[in-house]
This record gives sequence, C-alpha cells and structure tokens, in this order.
Amino acid sequence: MRVTLWGTRGSLATPGADMARYGGNTSCVGVVGDAGTMLVLDAGTGIRGLAATIPESVRRVDVLLTHLHMDHIQGLGFFAPIYRPDVAVHIWGPGSTTMRLRSRLMRYFSPPLFPVSLSELPNLSFHEVPSGEVDIGEFRVCSALVAHPGPTVGYRLTAPEGGVLTYLPDHEPALAALTFPSLPREWTSGGTLAANADLLIHDGQYSASEYCGHCGWGHSSLAHAMDFGSLTEVRQLVPFHHDPGHTDIDIDRITQEALEKAKPAYRVTPGVEGSVFEL
Ligand SMILES: [Zn+2]
Ligand SMILES: [Zn+2]
Repeated sequence: MRVTLWGTRGSLATPGADMARYGGNTSCVGVVGDAGTMLVLDAGTGIRGLAATIPESVRRVDVLLTHLHMDHIQGLGFFAPIYRPDVAVHIWGPGSTTMRLRSRLMRYFSPPLFPVSLSELPNLSFHEVPSGEVDIGEFRVCSALVAHPGPTVGYRLTAPEGGVLTYLPDHEPALAALTFPSLPREWTSGGTLAANADLLIHDGQYSASEYCGHCGWGHSSLAHAMDFGSLTEVRQLVPFHHDPGHTDIDIDRITQEALEKAKPAYRVTPGVEGSVFEL
C-alpha cells in the first residue's frame, strides 16, 4: 500500500511560513492499495489536495473518520467526489449514544455552517463504527474505540500481502496513568490496534511539559507516543497532529528531546505534509 500524508496539523489549520515544512493542513491520510482500493483516513483540510489526485476513472472512495471534531471533518465539503453521481463515496465513522453518523454529520452539512445539505449529495453511503473487522476492497479494516473525548475510533488496515498501517490521530493512552505504560498492551487504549504494525501514525501533539497542562484533553506527548510505539512493538512511528502553536523549529526541538528520553528501538519519522510511505 501507498500511504500519503495530506494533513499533519492538529486542532486547527495553521498556515504560515514558519509552519510550512511540517504543514498546516489538518488530519488527512490517503491510502491506495496495490489493487487500487482507495481509502481516506479523516477529512481534515488536507483532503482537498488529495481529491485533486484521484483519477477520473475511480468509481468508489471510502472515507474513514475517527471522530467528528472539526479538524477531522472540515475538508469534507471540499472533497470533490461527494458531488459526483458517478463516484460512490462511503463514509465510515462513529455515531453517538443518541445520534447516527449521518445525523451527526448533518450538523455540518446544513446552514449556517455550510450552504450544501447532505440530501443534495448524489452518491453517499454511511457506515457506523466501530464495526469489528470488515473488508473494504482489498483491505481488512479493524476499528475500535480509543481514549479521546467523545466517540472516537482508531483504525488498523491490513493489506492482502500482510502490510499493516495503524492510524490513531487523536489519542491519549496515558490518561489517568501515574506511569506510562503501566499495563500490558491488551489493556492499553489502542494497544491491540497498533500491535506489531509496520507503520503507526499517532498523535504527538505536545512536549512532555505541555502535556502536564493538557492532561485529559485527549492528546499525547511525543514521549508518550514513542512509549506507546515501544509497547506495541511497531516498526515505524509517524507522530503527527502537530500542535497549531508549534513552528517547524519547535517540532524539531521537542522531537529531539523526546527521542533522547524514549530511545525507541524503531524508526521515528515526524509527520511532514506530502510525505509518502510504501508498505
Ligand atoms: Zn484532532
Ligand atoms: Zn479530536
């Protein structure tokens, strides 16, 4: 599979010259399988650029939403395939205890927030998650609830040839732990989703000192992301969902600090918009 980072910023799109290297678009990752299956992980502002690369011949795209915070859905109205009757767009995401996924998304797709309503879109389908394991095209997709405010899932994609990508953009597995990790991975949020993944794309929003003031906000320090990667024995970690207050220089610095502390035994590649990984 080919994995492209289209949005690496967390919380709020953050343009600016001092943010340009890591990128300012919010969470969006494109995945294309060797047999052509096209998946989109989250619909942050990065999805607009992704849409421009989808070949005219594609007839189905699956958008897998982890949750419905604005930074993960804001690009959906600018995802060109949703306006094409000849492209089936399947949207997967969590409902709540009182509302289905479609009803929750209707809040965005309605005035005054957006001029187009969901009922005007020609070829959309909705699927509730978590849904255990399902096959989407050539991929086996596993979803499970993870630690983050509101209904939020993570995804594990397995290609037929065995490559595994785990996507946990907004995730606080260290929540309420006096030390982390303190439990086996089976008892740690996201642990089973990430176990032995070839590539883990994970929340790394804060420095260690910043995390102390943001406990319970649903995000990880870079050090926690690296400890989580060690616990789950991944082959490569891409920390992203960069804090909107962090410049490129800040991200370089706090990544280096976390690497020196965590000393991970695997490769760490901080998320840069536009970067591509082949699994
Ligand atoms: Zn987010
Ligand atoms: Zn969130």
